[in-house]
Amino acid sequence: MSGQMELVSARTVHGPDLVPDLAGADRLVISNSGGKDSLVAMDEAVRLADEAGVRDRIVVLHIDLGRTPRGHTVEWPGTTDLARRQADHYRLPFEIRRSTRWPSLVHRIRARGQFPHFLSRFCTSEMKRAVAHRFVTEQVNALGVTGRPARIVHVMGFRAEESRARARRPAVEVDSRASSGRRTVTQWYPVLRWSTAEVWQRIRDRGLPYHWAYDAGMSRLSCSLCVLASVPDLTCAAKLRPELAREYADLEEELGVPFRRELPMAEVIRRAGGAA
Ligand code: SF4
Repeated sequence: MSGQMELVSARTVHGPDLVPDLAGADRLVISNSGGKDSLVAMDEAVRLADEAGVRDRIVVLHIDLGRTPRGHTVEWPGTTDLARRQADHYRLPFEIRRSTRWPSLVHRIRARGQFPHFLSRFCTSEMKRAVAHRFVTEQVNALGVTGRPARIVHVMGFRAEESRARARRPAVEVDSRASSGRRTVTQWYPVLRWSTAEVWQRIRDRGLPYHWAYDAGMSRLSCSLCVLASVPDLTCAAKLRPELAREYADLEEELGVPFRRELPMAEVIRRAGGAA
């Protein structure tokens, strides 16, 4: 568990981040992956929405990455149910959406003939961002705002600690790609400058329902076998989900490309103590 020092985060040093105009928003869409960061982002968004008196404008969106050709969930088992329970915890409406094109991320990888990687994150752009944009369009259509663009605030659990790209972002930014003459989409990252320790502290303080995979040894959630995950997380995941790891290893053999250039899934399985 993280020590007290980590509670002195960028947030502590720089003070609170900006909050968008919640009272002026027509809809707040909270993306909830079921992971710790989106859970605490939701907690913060609800707290501040309550202050603005707009909790009734929130909807929680969970994007499901589907089941592999062999029937395994790409995400950790129980994630969808947990994401629903987390929304229920705040009595918020909950919606699930999936790619309309691909039954799962693994189907997409197979069709493309390569795994996603740092410079080609088609997993997030096609399976998550595009689905979220479509959901926002649904919301805008349902709102029926006329005479001005609908104002949508999209809440996500990004944190600066996760990557340099995320560290460069402001906590509130207009998403020009998702905005149009009919809508203005503002991205809001309420826990952007929180440390991991602060995130866990909030979960403990409020008794929030979190995913079992953390107690099983994972430091991050989302796809069980994420191309960007650390080696310890991948090894832990391959131990916990050997059949899924086997399917990824078979896929890399079929495609003739490794899961990660320096780390094929066969090697992950070996490190996890299984037969590659
Ligand atoms: S968890 Fe990893 S593999 Fe899955 S969508 Fe996100 S970046 Fe891609």
